[in-house]
Amino acid sequence: MLSIEMLPARHGDSLWIVYGEGRDTQRILVDGGPGFAYANGLRARIAGLKKAQRQLELAVTTHIDADHIEGMIRLLGEPALGVTYGDFWYNAWKQVSNGMMEPFGAKQGEYLSALLRKNEIPWNQAFAPAGGGVRIAAPTDTLTPIVLPGGAKITLLSPSREKLVKLRDAWQKELDAADIEPDQPEEALARLKKDRKFGGHVSFGAGAPDPATLAKKTFSEDDTAPNGSSIAFLLEAGGKKALLLGDAHPGVVEANIDRLLKKAKKSRLEVDAVKLPHHGSMANVSPSLIAKIAAEHWLFSSDGTFFDHPDPEAVARVVTGAPESPRLVFNYRTARTSIWDSAALRKKHKYKSAYPAAGASGFVLKL
Ligand SMILES: [Zn+2]
Repeated sequence: MLSIEMLPARHGDSLWIVYGEGRDTQRILVDGGPGFAYANGLRARIAGLKKAQRQLELAVTTHIDADHIEGMIRLLGEPALGVTYGDFWYNAWKQVSNGMMEPFGAKQGEYLSALLRKNEIPWNQAFAPAGGGVRIAAPTDTLTPIVLPGGAKITLLSPSREKLVKLRDAWQKELDAADIEPDQPEEALARLKKDRKFGGHVSFGAGAPDPATLAKKTFSEDDTAPNGSSIAFLLEAGGKKALLLGDAHPGVVEANIDRLLKKAKKSRLEVDAVKLPHHGSMANVSPSLIAKIAAEHWLFSSDGTFFDHPDPEAVARVVTGAPESPRLVFNYRTARTSIWDSAALRKKHKYKSAYPAAGASGFVLKL
């Protein structure tokens, strides 16, 4: 069994993943969503579990952007919840600046580093030397999966060394601008205590989309350093496969999918589900990435606020580029997602669409 739950993380990502059976049930958390979604999203999910079930084999903070990292900071700031961690993957200053390697991001990156140390959580233990950077193997090496308790396998597809170097430069710049020294846990914790949050809304004029026209729009790739540093991977568990692509740059993911395809002598990577990169942004869902994947379920995590995700162009690329009738899975019914809930469109373009049940928040995909 493999279940992927897109928690109600507003404009961000928070994926609660369960695999295994009965007593051997294991859990993975990928991202914590933004801070203001924490109480009703991730925290509520954990609070609903018995204490003995609050063990995460792995927690991953894909990158330092607020809509992924803030909920993790809140979670680690609440040790009374009793969550324990087998390993915690996260590239902090230590890993990005160590000879290789948006506003708020760098500062929050420092908060998370400080909390990981304070709570003595195992950090990047799977990466040699233990505590090293989470990044893909050099192009000359093979992509070897990391095996978790219960047999789940994880093959990293992003970030590359180059993208981490870009993040290092951006991180330094931001900390300089904010007059913060990197890797000073005491200072970061003091600052964290005083920090406050933000809010806002963007509206969307909905009309019936035309997938054929939308999909033709020229692709221009995301070039932001934090997204480029995003951890993305192939998860294999319970006999199922899922691509969890964070906010990664599609070029990096594609290059590494190519390495897997070459080895398997296939033209498309066959998986059961894909969590689309960057909440279905048109700058991250490239036609060439879609062309390398065969999947039934295509997951979009966003409520559409702040950054207007998912872009209709990105959804159209899935609808027109997926090999078989794709199933679009949204964790919110919004103006931007409900335009795809049309029997006429579904019939014409041979796709399916799924939304949270009335009154439910988030979406649980059981594979
Ligand atoms: Zn994001």
